[in-house]
Amino acid sequence: ALHLDKKPDWIRVKLPRDPVFWSTKALISDLKLHTVCEEAQCPNRWECWSQGTATFMIAGDRCTRACGFCAVKTAKPFALEADEPERVAAATKRLKLNHVVITAVARDDVKDGGAEHFARTIEAVREAVPGITIEILVPDFNEKDDAIEVVMKARPHIFNHNLETVERLTPLVRSRAKYHRSLNVLKRAKALANEMGYKCATKSGLMLGLGETEVELFQAMDDLLEHDVTVLTLGQYLRPSAQHLPVIDYIHPDTFENYKQIARNKGFRHVASAPLVRSSYHAADFKPELDL
Ligand code: SF4
Ligand code: SF4
Repeated sequence: ALHLDKKPDWIRVKLPRDPVFWSTKALISDLKLHTVCEEAQCPNRWECWSQGTATFMIAGDRCTRACGFCAVKTAKPFALEADEPERVAAATKRLKLNHVVITAVARDDVKDGGAEHFARTIEAVREAVPGITIEILVPDFNEKDDAIEVVMKARPHIFNHNLETVERLTPLVRSRAKYHRSLNVLKRAKALANEMGYKCATKSGLMLGLGETEVELFQAMDDLLEHDVTVLTLGQYLRPSAQHLPVIDYIHPDTFENYKQIARNKGFRHVASAPLVRSSYHAADFKPELDL
């Protein structure tokens, strides 16, 4: 048997008790969609799905990268599916979401990194559910400006791209992604929204417990603020399997709360910080604060 780290008692997962969980699951498989909830083995899936929310993962379930923390499988991806945007739109409508989060694997095998596919999905969702707010959690598109522009032209309300970890640990934790590249992508997205004349909040997140120091974490916060990011998520890294990076620390919930205050004081407009926080966890909750 694999030896997995013993988790502290504040890492508690709520098991499914609600029939809504099963209807969410059925709907997703019905429409042949992937979710990051399942692919990344998110500890909140019982809770979120029981509330009828899920985060769609487009462009397949096979990633061209292999990050040391991530449970998504690395393999040669299949071709993009032309009808996927419509299926995401249909699921969004059937789940009666008023805020949707859409993410994707990193598609380094296609020229635009999947940007056009993202744009088409945003457009399909908006058409199916007018008035909905749309949050995208994107890969770095290798910092290709035309790719970022394609995505921003579709006018997402929230542009989320995770820094994942502090600068020093980036080469260990992330495959191919670079700390400053990610910061630049965030800044560029915000600048493009400004140029195009619409409001878009930029959002980023880090996993804690990978061995980062507090000084490094606070530096990452400062760097994000300097790159115009206003929404921050902080959560505990959990090891998906023995093949993934080990957990170095389990950060106490009080410490997460303290980081939240520090981040707020530094200038983030919204901060979600707790052990089980993930990028898309309760993403709809802070909509009013975004002033969209
Ligand atoms: Fe899915 Fe996000 Fe909820 Fe996790 S936190 S289950 S990824 S919606
Ligand atoms: Fe996971 Fe990294 Fe691929 Fe994103 S780019 S899906 S974090 S392996």
